[in-house]
Amino acid sequence: MTSIRHHQVFIIGSGPAGYTAALYAARANLSPFMATGIQPGGQLTTTTDVENYPGFPDGVMGPEMMVLFEKQAVRFGLEIVYSMVERVDFEQHPFRIWTDDGGAHTAEAVIIATGASAKYLGIPGEQEYLGRGVSACATCDGFFFKDADLVVVGGGDTAMEEANFLTKFARKVYVVHRRDTLRASKIMQARAANNPKIEFVWNTTCEEVLGGEEGVVGVRVRNRETGEVDVLDVTGYFSAIGHKPNTDLFTGTLDMNDTGYLEVKSPTTYTNIEGVFAAGDVADPIYRQAVTAAGMGCAAAMDAERWLEAREGV
Ligand code: FAD
Ligand code: NAP
Repeated sequence: MTSIRHHQVFIIGSGPAGYTAALYAARANLSPFMATGIQPGGQLTTTTDVENYPGFPDGVMGPEMMVLFEKQAVRFGLEIVYSMVERVDFEQHPFRIWTDDGGAHTAEAVIIATGASAKYLGIPGEQEYLGRGVSACATCDGFFFKDADLVVVGGGDTAMEEANFLTKFARKVYVVHRRDTLRASKIMQARAANNPKIEFVWNTTCEEVLGGEEGVVGVRVRNRETGEVDVLDVTGYFSAIGHKPNTDLFTGTLDMNDTGYLEVKSPTTYTNIEGVFAAGDVADPIYRQAVTAAGMGCAAAMDAERWLEAREGV
């Protein structure tokens, strides 16, 4: 029989929010326990330079930064399992949590920091050729596209960053965007606009990823103004249309907005269930930055600490 382990604070997720929550909870002697999920370190492990996290005047590589986050929290006593939480029961207290390594846990307080995952358009060919020319992570897969022509779909910071990064390998990168203005920050826009290997394809949607035995061979696109259909001859397609909050686990239990972000009682990190807190991108449809996620992680640990203290006092 699996033994059940009890924790004061159980943290779900290992991005900037999870590790910062862990650091603060550990320093408050709450012996935090973390399940990292399938992406230890979170979204920043899929990027290269992070230039806007304070304290790194020369920038820092995303994966390197997340190793530093982990080290700092572990130094103060964070315990980590590299597993996914597959089920939770917040109906009774202590809360119950099950991990996919067969672990069963109870916890006085839970901090949810499950962040977000890459979205795909859902067009024909996308899932079929995933890993065979279709990707949502330039840092992970860019290397495989030496001298290739590629499509990046999206008009936000992720799309600009992915496109710029891919030009290190590719011959040409088409950025296909559904409007004629970008959502990306000005500095990222300028970088892409000044990159001679990037060509913008405006007011255009991708309709199908075309492929064969060897993987992706093209992307069928349609101009939204003229209706004109064209095929871009590319061997890679990168989805960069944003991320979906990882909240399926909490459907029916925790309050969410209409796009699935957890609702918190702002400016706190309280969810609708007392003792369950949420931090970072999973509860932030607006800012979604490493530094804001870390800030919310700090707030969640302090909220949990105060909530636990008040309970003890009852
Ligand atoms: P995430 O980083 O999304 O981490 C979520 C964690 O939850 C992961 O560890 C995952 O494994 C875990 N998880 C999910 N489900 C489960 C589960 N069921 N059980 C256990 N664990 C689970 N922001 C900046 O400020 N500067 C940048 O330069 C920058 N560049 C970016 C580049 C790219 C390509 C991308 C995609 C994002 C970038 N961002 C940047 C945004 C930044 O990465 C996010 O805002 C930040 O990572 C959010 O942190 P988080 O801790 O909320 O969640
Ligand atoms: P985002 O800002 O939400 O942008 C998503 C882009 O994809 C938008 O341009 C959107 O088009 C497009 N899109 C969405 N759904 C689409 C669909 N079905 N069909 C076609 N196009 C679609 O997401 P993001 O770029 O991933 O950025 C998320 C957050 O992370 C932001 O806060 C960003 O600042 C941050 N981030 C920062 C950096 C950095 O600072 N270096 C890097 C990456 C990400 P519309 O514009 O028409 O809506």
